[in-house]
Amino acid sequence: MEHPKVSDNRSEKIIFLSHCCLNQNAKVRGIASYPGAITPLISMLLEEGIGIIQMPCPEMTYLGNMRWGQVKDQYNNPMFRRHCKCIVDTVVDQAENYIQCGYQIVGFVMMDGSPVCGLNRTPRPKDSNVLWGGMTWYIPESEYLIEGGVYSEILQEELKKRGIENIPFVASPEFDEVGELDQALDAIKSLIIVE
Ligand code: SF4
Repeated sequence: MEHPKVSDNRSEKIIFLSHCCLNQNAKVRGIASYPGAITPLISMLLEEGIGIIQMPCPEMTYLGNMRWGQVKDQYNNPMFRRHCKCIVDTVVDQAENYIQCGYQIVGFVMMDGSPVCGLNRTPRPKDSNVLWGGMTWYIPESEYLIEGGVYSEILQEELKKRGIENIPFVASPEFDEVGELDQALDAIKSLIIVE
């Protein structure tokens, strides 16, 4: 889409990132892979002239930086879902407006391994009959299931509700157990670099 009178250097291409792609300090302590941003991802986006929108971190803005690592089942409650919905509303408002103005949303980059931002791999209790929670001297086993986290699900629901259904979702892995960063980078590259 062209503006009749005013043009400038903008690429009119936008990508939405899970907060910790740009700020690893938000992660649960023990799983940050980079000092600050995921350098190879952000370098690629900067080089390609993609505008970056950093979505707020749902966990950090709910439980703060001293939280424990949890499974999806602990976050999947009405209070946290409402918190995610508030964030999602502001995120999708921006996506919708950029689309209205002719911009290309190249994708959403989520975070596999997270109970909240996971896209394809999300931690769940290994035994679905065992309730999680309680004092920290009892921590049941967990496993990564092929499903989305709480925030990812609410974000996709809201996009669908507004008729925005053609934006690709990809995930960067939190650690090796849930995927390879190189593969994620290739998938993101294929979205932003049109040969
Ligand atoms: S994966 Fe999501 S919830 Fe977890 S630290 Fe990153 S932005 Fe926050």
